[in-house]
Amino acid sequence: MSTFQAPKGTYDLTPPRSATFLAVREAISAPLRDSGYGYIETPGFENVELFARGVGESTDIVTKEMYTLTTKGGDQLALRPEGTASVLRAALEANLHKAGNLPVKLWYSGSYYRYERPQAGRYRHFSQVGAEAIGTEDPALDAELIILADQAYRSLGLRRFRILLNSLGDKECRPVYREALQTFLRDLDLDEETRRRIEINPLRVLDDKRADVQKQLTDAPKLRDYLCDACKAYHEEVRALLTAAGVAFEDDEKLVRGLDYYTRTTFEFVHDGLGSQSAVGGGGRYDGLSEMIGGPELPSVGWALGVDRTVLALEAESVELDLPATTSVYAVPLGEEARRVLFGVVTELRRAGIAADFAFGGRGLKGAMKSANRSGARYTLVAGERDLAEGVVQLKDMESGEQSAVPPAEAAAELAKRLG
Ligand code: AMP
Repeated sequence: MSTFQAPKGTYDLTPPRSATFLAVREAISAPLRDSGYGYIETPGFENVELFARGVGESTDIVTKEMYTLTTKGGDQLALRPEGTASVLRAALEANLHKAGNLPVKLWYSGSYYRYERPQAGRYRHFSQVGAEAIGTEDPALDAELIILADQAYRSLGLRRFRILLNSLGDKECRPVYREALQTFLRDLDLDEETRRRIEINPLRVLDDKRADVQKQLTDAPKLRDYLCDACKAYHEEVRALLTAAGVAFEDDEKLVRGLDYYTRTTFEFVHDGLGSQSAVGGGGRYDGLSEMIGGPELPSVGWALGVDRTVLALEAESVELDLPATTSVYAVPLGEEARRVLFGVVTELRRAGIAADFAFGGRGLKGAMKSANRSGARYTLVAGERDLAEGVVQLKDMESGEQSAVPPAEAAAELAKRLG
C-alpha cells in the first residue's frame, strides 16, 4: 500500500473540485438559514448507545455499518453514522426544547461514517448537510423541509431529481401493519438473513432489490390500507401543501428508508443520473425518537442531503456552478525592492477585503504570469527596478490586456475602485 493513499472507501477534497463542495454546502444551507434554522455542531463521535438502542427494530446502518471503538478509558464510542440522533441528543442536553420556542429548528453540516461496501457514490466517509425541526407536529413543517430541499437543489441548477413520498404510520397503526406484513412474509421462500430481517425490521424486506424477492411481494399487505385516520389526514395535508407550493412528488409506497425511527412522513430525493446510489437526500418525521433515547415526547421532522452525491449529480447533469475566482489581484515582483513594495500592496488589498495573491519564491516573469493566469485574477500588478525608479507599478487588466502605471501608494485604492 502506498504511503500516500487515503483509507479504503474515502477520498480527499482538493482544489479545484473542493470549491464545488463548499458551494454545495452553502447552497443547501442558505434556504435553511433564511427560514429560522440555527446552526448546530456536535462531536464526530457519540456514546454507542445513542445509535444502538436496545432491542426493537434495527437497521444495517447500526448493526453492520457502524464504526465502534473502545477508548483507553473503556468508553464505548461510535463514529456518527447519521446526524439526527446526535442533534436531538444535543438539543435535549442544552434544553433547547424548554426555551418555549417550538419547534427548535436546527441545521448542521459535517462528516458521517459508515462501514459500507464502497462503490461509486457510496463511501465510508461522506458529508451531509441536514436540518431538524424538533418538538412540533404540524404537516406544514414537513412540507417546509421538503420545499426547502427542493429549493436548494434548484438553486444549484439541478433538474433531474425526483421526490418520493410516503407515510409510515404512527405508533397506533404501524404495529398492526407490521404484524400483518410479518405474517405474509413468513410464508415466502426467502433466505436465512431475510427471514431474520422479517423478525427485526419487516418493512425493510419490501425494499429488497432482488427480482426473485420482489416477485413474491406483489400481494404483500399495503401500509396505505392500514394507516389510521389521523395519519391519513396528516399525510393528505402534507401532499396538499406541497402541491400548492408547486413542488412535484411521487407517492412511493415502498419507501421505507434505512433508519428505524421514522413515523408518518418519509421522503427521499433521488437523482436519475447516478446509477444504483441514486438517493441524494432523504428524511422524514421521527415522532418517537426522543422517547427512544430517554427524552420527553417531542414529535420532530428532518432531512439530510448528501453533499458527495449532490456534487456527483451536478457532474451528471453537466452543471457548472458559477464560482467566482478566488483571487482578484495577483502581484508579480521582479527583484528584491519590488518584492517589498508589492508585498505591502498585497497586504493593503487584503485588509481592504480584496482577494490578492503574490508570486512567492522569486520566480521569473514568465512562470509568475502563468500562475497569475491560473489564479483567475482579473488584475495583475507587475513591478521591476525600472518601474520603481519611475515611482510606479504596472497594473494590468487581464481581460482587456490594457496596462497602466500607478504609484505604489495608490495601487490599492485604484484597484478597489476598479473592482467596485
Ligand atoms: P441516509 O441517512 O441514509 O438517509 O442518508 C442521507 C443521504 O446521505 C443520502 O441520500 C446520501 O446522499 C448520503 N449518503 C448516505 N450514505 C452515504 C454513503 N455511504 N456515501 C455517500 N453518501 C451517502
